[in-house]
This record gives sequence, C-alpha cells and structure tokens, in this order.
Amino acid sequence: MGKLQMTPDLLRSLLQGTAEAVIAQAEHLTALDQAIGDGDHGINMKRGLENVLADLENITAKPPAEALKAVGMTMVMKVGGASGPLYGTLAVTLGKEWPTDDELDSAKLGQMLAASIEALKKRGKADLGAKTMLDVLAPVQQALEANKSMTEISAIAQQAAEATIPMKATRGRASFLGDRSIGHMDPGAYSSALIIQTICQLLEEKS
Ligand code: ADP
Ligand code: MG
Repeated sequence: MGKLQMTPDLLRSLLQGTAEAVIAQAEHLTALDQAIGDGDHGINMKRGLENVLADLENITAKPPAEALKAVGMTMVMKVGGASGPLYGTLAVTLGKEWPTDDELDSAKLGQMLAASIEALKKRGKADLGAKTMLDVLAPVQQALEANKSMTEISAIAQQAAEATIPMKATRGRASFLGDRSIGHMDPGAYSSALIIQTICQLLEEKS
C-alpha cells in the first residue's frame, strides 16, 4: 500500500465495517469456542463491539490516536474473557504508536503492529505457536513489513487462522484440553483474521 492519510471518516468506516463483520460472525466464533473453550468468544466480541458502535460518534470525534485508545478501553471493559484485555491492549498500543501526522503506510503499520504484538505477548504471557490470535497477528505483521498487498495480507490472515487447526493450545482456556485442542481452529485466531480481512478489503476499496 502507498501512503494513507487517516481521516475521521475513514476511521469511522473502518471501525464500523470491522465491528459489523465480527458481529455478523458471532455465532461462528462462539461455535469455534464451544469446541475448545467455553463457547463465549462470539458473545464477548459482539458485546464489546456493539458498545463501540453505540459510541462511534463520540469515539470518532477524537483524533485517531485517541479514538483507538478509546476503542481499546471499551474492549477491555466490555468484551470480557481473555480476549477483551488482549484486543484492548492491541488497540490501545496502536493508539500509542499512532503517527502524529495521521499518515500511514505499510512500514509504519508494520511497526505499530509489532509494538502491539509485543504488548499482547507480555499481557497474555504467550508466544507464537500457542494457538492464539498471535498466530494470525504475527504473520500479518511480517506481511506488512514486506509491503505485501492488501489482497495478499488478507489471504495470509486466512491461512494463518487455518494453520492453528493442527496446533496444540498451550495458552488460554483451550490449553486445558491438551492434545484434544488439536484439530480445531482457534476462535481468537479466527476473529483476528476476520478483523484483518475486513480492514484489508475496506482499504483496498479505498485505494
Ligand atoms: P476466554 O478464553 O476467557 O473465554 P474468549 O473466549 O473471548 O475468552 O477468547 C478466547 C481467545 O483468546 C482464544 O481463542 C485465544 O485466541 C485468545 N487467548 C486466550 N489466552 C491468550 C493468551 N494468553 N495470549 C494470547 N491470546 C490468548
Ligand atoms: Mg471463551
């Protein structure tokens, strides 16, 4: 991607589009979590993102960096579960790393996501290969660094979510199942892929 100037309008359409896409898949996310967790991932994400949608005007009235921090705080407070604080940390860190001129490109986004992944790893005491959302976010971060196209990044996110199927969970609730976590897609990996794919699609349409 080339240079992208973030405006309140664009941020609003990204937040709205992403929230709606995840809410539309809430049942599927919950079904994934029923297989290897406690079956609430879709419900958790839906609750958090409905709160973001309800507060969208207030959120997007703020400068983008502050808006992302506000989204993060809403996720922490409203999503609940393990994923709330983790997605919250992700959004808050993106807000902290936000460029002062609101100008983004692939390299900058890669750097922002790298910082967010570090914060997320610390928060969840997890590393790659533990069958979590990190297993989607990390390859996406590398793809941004490599300046891949939005279409390629979207495909990478999907493949990365599928690649969690044969993994054995060593973090989060799914780790309680040990070997029985093998053979199922991680719900958080899927919600992350969904978020990435929606953003890629919206930015692709934009350029
Ligand atoms: P809970 O597990 O508390 O029920 P959710 O069901 O909303 O919370 O979210 C589960 C998802 O959170 C998992 O599929 C996984 O991707 C992610 N997750 C759980 N623990 C961690 C962790 N320590 N680090 C990174 N991601 C994690
Ligand atoms: Mg759960």
